[in-house]
Amino acid sequence: QSIVGSKSLLQLYTSEISREAENKAHLEKLIEIALNQDAFYLLYMPLYRASSNKIVGVEALLRCSLPELYSLSPEVYVSVAEETGLIRDIDLMVIEKALTDFSNFELYEDLTLSINISSKELLDTSFVGHFEERVLKSGVSFEKICLEITETFLLDIDCTCINTLNEIRGMGCKVSLDDFGTGYTSFQHLINFPADEIKIDKGFISGIKSDQGYSVIVDSLFLIADTYQYNIVAEGVETKEIYDFLVDKGCDVFQGYFISKPIPLEGVVLLNNKIDKDGL
Ligand code: C2E
Ligand code: MG
Ligand code: MG
Ligand code: MG
Repeated sequence: QSIVGSKSLLQLYTSEISREAENKAHLEKLIEIALNQDAFYLLYMPLYRASSNKIVGVEALLRCSLPELYSLSPEVYVSVAEETGLIRDIDLMVIEKALTDFSNFELYEDLTLSINISSKELLDTSFVGHFEERVLKSGVSFEKICLEITETFLLDIDCTCINTLNEIRGMGCKVSLDDFGTGYTSFQHLINFPADEIKIDKGFISGIKSDQGYSVIVDSLFLIADTYQYNIVAEGVETKEIYDFLVDKGCDVFQGYFISKPIPLEGVVLLNNKIDKDGL
């Protein structure tokens, strides 16, 4: 009986794996179609600075107009693209689109532009050249740009990664360590990572009020940021309660639904006017 049992379990397991593979292959095809049809576009998540009471930057977030991908989180197809190598085309496409949107926007002088790239790019020695070429073509100054890297693959950060990060910073761009606090980054790791900014993940932020222990961790994070001169951005701030808590802790830059959902770049004008008039 146990043999029968394990056989059916095995069958279940193999069919699960093949379904997953099918799903991945399907997504891969859709990503290729989207790239070919130019179906990807960007929305922008505002960065709000409390001490100046205004939007000081935007983060480009990938969206896709293909019906099959429209309602999927970019996280899903970005991770498939990372496995298949398509991520390189996506990242360069996003960089190009973001720079074009940004340089055409009337208020871009007042804003910084954050772009997410896969940490896989850090292992690609040709990435920096491609990036630099696109920035020079756009006329946007390097100082306005911040590249955000999620910690997932950085567990075994090596020399190539560090070199790439230092090259990016050498051009004048900022580097941000995205999604800090829920993934793999240890404090040791943080200290060795050549970044200008740390973004505290929304998973961490949303837990703040329900757990007293968070308060202590937030304090140590700000202490480290102070010592190692990282800017801190709190991401995924959804309520006034959490916003106030973080302001109290000395946090100055915020992203999240409490400030705004991702919007078209032009929406920043309206948002700034509204904040100016009514506050947050
Ligand atoms: P991320 O870079 O950490 O982006 C923040 C994500 O959190 C965005 O989801 C944003 O819409 C969401 N978010 C921000 N504030 C709130 C909030 O208050 N509440 C809630 N519920 N969500 C909030 P999105 O756009 O689905 O992106 C997910 C992830 O996909 C990004 O995480 C990033 O890792 C990746 N991604 C997005 N765009 C790109 C891109 O152009 N290139 C690459 N390589 N990855 C991208
Ligand atoms: Mg990001
Ligand atoms: Mg992320
Ligand atoms: Mg994040």
